[in-house]
Amino acid sequence: MRYVADIERYADSERLYARCGRSGVLLPKVSLGMWHNFGGVNPYERSRDITHYAFDHGITHFDLANNYGPPYGSAELTMGKLMDEDFRPYRDEMFISTKAGYDMWEGPYGNWGSRKYLMASLDQSLKRMRLDYVDLFYSHRYDPNTPVEETLQALVDIVHAGKALYVGISNWPLEPLKYAEEYLRERDVPLLIYQGRLNMLDREPLEGGILDFCEEKGIGFIAYSPLAQGLLTDRYLNGIPADSRMAQEKFLRSSRLTPDMLQYIKRLREEGLAAGRTTAQQALSWILGQKAVTSVLVGASSVEQLADNLKVLG
Ligand code: NDP
Repeated sequence: MRYVADIERYADSERLYARCGRSGVLLPKVSLGMWHNFGGVNPYERSRDITHYAFDHGITHFDLANNYGPPYGSAELTMGKLMDEDFRPYRDEMFISTKAGYDMWEGPYGNWGSRKYLMASLDQSLKRMRLDYVDLFYSHRYDPNTPVEETLQALVDIVHAGKALYVGISNWPLEPLKYAEEYLRERDVPLLIYQGRLNMLDREPLEGGILDFCEEKGIGFIAYSPLAQGLLTDRYLNGIPADSRMAQEKFLRSSRLTPDMLQYIKRLREEGLAAGRTTAQQALSWILGQKAVTSVLVGASSVEQLADNLKVLG
């Protein structure tokens, strides 16, 4: 059946959106990340249900990267299929990002921060997603062996070529970030947003000055792995479910589930209950209360999880 988006999806815009730094862009305070659960190994119908639920509830921002999957590239292929089957009429209502910076293809040109890699990677991403342009293109990590001007000028040229409307930086240390902000501003391609890991267990952007810098310069901040990949939820209160990320022992290892950690999660759950929130909502609301934070970039392996997370907005 043809997808028709819920006509009520923008009914509560005041609550849903936040301005991204000092830009013209409003982003949903809860955005959907497609690192896990949208790859070629995942059931397409489930990915489809989650993205429909997102868009039907005003989540306009979908975050990807060249190597999301698995296999690499397949989350973008899923997005391409969704575009053709469902979302094409809504393209101008969507804010789609992708990135390059980590390993993507073999040989010397499929990783890090060279112009060669970034340009080729974005062209590949656009083909996979069946898009003419992305709204936002990120340098996914800082490359200490490529002149920083080369990486940044590639971002500028990507915008000038019409392949991305805005540029972002992810995982860069503070000092190169400061340089990037100035370089891009002087070339009239202002840095829209910084994407960094921020959650109750990992406060580096808060403690290391990134949030301060974003606030000072009017750069948006979007927090990835806001639930510490599922740790800061009820997912692991009674062991490790077979279908959980931790059961895969890859990106989230069972060694993190120490007795101390379990205590921490239980305490968080109790604080949440007292405040009328679920554990996940409690963790997300902590992030949304930090300065400079525009959005939390959640993952979800089911519609129920996404629904739970979205309710953090009240
Ligand atoms: P989260 O911290 O939100 O973890 C998502 C996982 O947590 C889900 O897959 C699910 O685990 C579990 N979960 C989510 N909501 C609930 C809930 N309400 N109750 C119980 N369990 C829940 O984020 P991710 O680590 O997935 O990262 C989010 C996005 O951030 C990525 O998709 C990507 O877009 C971006 N990102 C960017 C990075 C970068 O370098 N720039 C790095 C990492 C992520 P389960 O699958 O076990 O059900």
